[in-house]
Amino acid sequence: MTKTANLSLKALSKRFGETMAVRDLSLDIPASSYVVLLGPSGSGKTTLLSMLGGFTAPTSGQIFLDDDDITLMQPAQRPTATVFQDYALFPHLSVGDNVAFGLSVRKVAKAEAARRVAEALDMVGLKGFEKRKISEASGGQRQRIALARALVIDPAILLLDEPLGALDLNLRRQMQDELRALQKRERRTFVHVTHDQEEAMAIADTIVIMKDGVIEDAGPPQDVYSHPRSRFSAQFMGESNILDADISEGMAETALGRFPVVGKGTAAVAIRPENFTVTPGEGAVSLGMAALEEVVFQGSFVRLSARIGNVEIRLRVPPADISGSGQQVEVFLKRGGAAALQS
Ligand code: ATP
Repeated sequence: MTKTANLSLKALSKRFGETMAVRDLSLDIPASSYVVLLGPSGSGKTTLLSMLGGFTAPTSGQIFLDDDDITLMQPAQRPTATVFQDYALFPHLSVGDNVAFGLSVRKVAKAEAARRVAEALDMVGLKGFEKRKISEASGGQRQRIALARALVIDPAILLLDEPLGALDLNLRRQMQDELRALQKRERRTFVHVTHDQEEAMAIADTIVIMKDGVIEDAGPPQDVYSHPRSRFSAQFMGESNILDADISEGMAETALGRFPVVGKGTAAVAIRPENFTVTPGEGAVSLGMAALEEVVFQGSFVRLSARIGNVEIRLRVPPADISGSGQQVEVFLKRGGAAALQS
């Protein structure tokens, strides 16, 4: 198998009794891309990943790797490797033997296996760790060992199920950078499950937002953040002000007045807190005077709750913008700051 292959999911469904965990899901994942499956608990992320890894048979639909139908191929036969949330390391085996596990299953000769184990440990920054015990490894090291164990079998596609869930925040951020760098260096496809939207934005080429077993939204992080498809997607990807709207020809009529919107939707409008401003720039639209209700200093920005008429909004502005201002400020919408939602 080549290291780079396009993955194509066609009308994939999985039913568990009455529950449709994944329904009629189609998705193309280009070779060498970093895809993050993001969604709330129970949205079908793990089930989808498990079907990609061959641990769960789809109820219907197909999975193609380039032109090969791998839908029913056994996990060990398909060019995928999975890193599980709990790492599933063998505590009684050394680091080297843990990493070598997939190679012994595949009956790779000893010398060749030792060379590949060393290479995989090097890839994750653990060169020379073969003889160490798992019990002596820190949380971050265990995470890297689990990664090395998956990479050693040279998978075209690496599947990661909440791989950073057990780590503290600092280590989590560091490992996100490392995972992304590793994926770019190795040019394999990574499919990574998380319910942390910041993690998704930090590492993904493509974010796939799932809800109730279907794809709610998908695209590059910047697009999904700035131009969410739906109310759910806008709110799941961070804070958003959602307004009912009548939209036509790029203009929205809302409880905050009339202003331009970006995107094709007609159902409602989403405005990120940072897309309001109290210092009008070019192309900004005045929304009127707002009564400040809550002002929370957060270091590099200030979080505000305010009321314009009877509409409650949340804003995020630089501290200097509101120093010395009273209880009333004029609020503007930045140019391009309102996204039209499809549902
Ligand atoms: P989480 O973030 O909590 O892991 P998830 O998005 O990964 O959630 P899944 O674990 O894929 O969601 O579950 C999707 C739905 O399918 C849920 O309603 C779950 O209860 C159900 N489900 C998953 N696995 C099974 C199973 N083996 N038997 C029965 N129902 C299952």
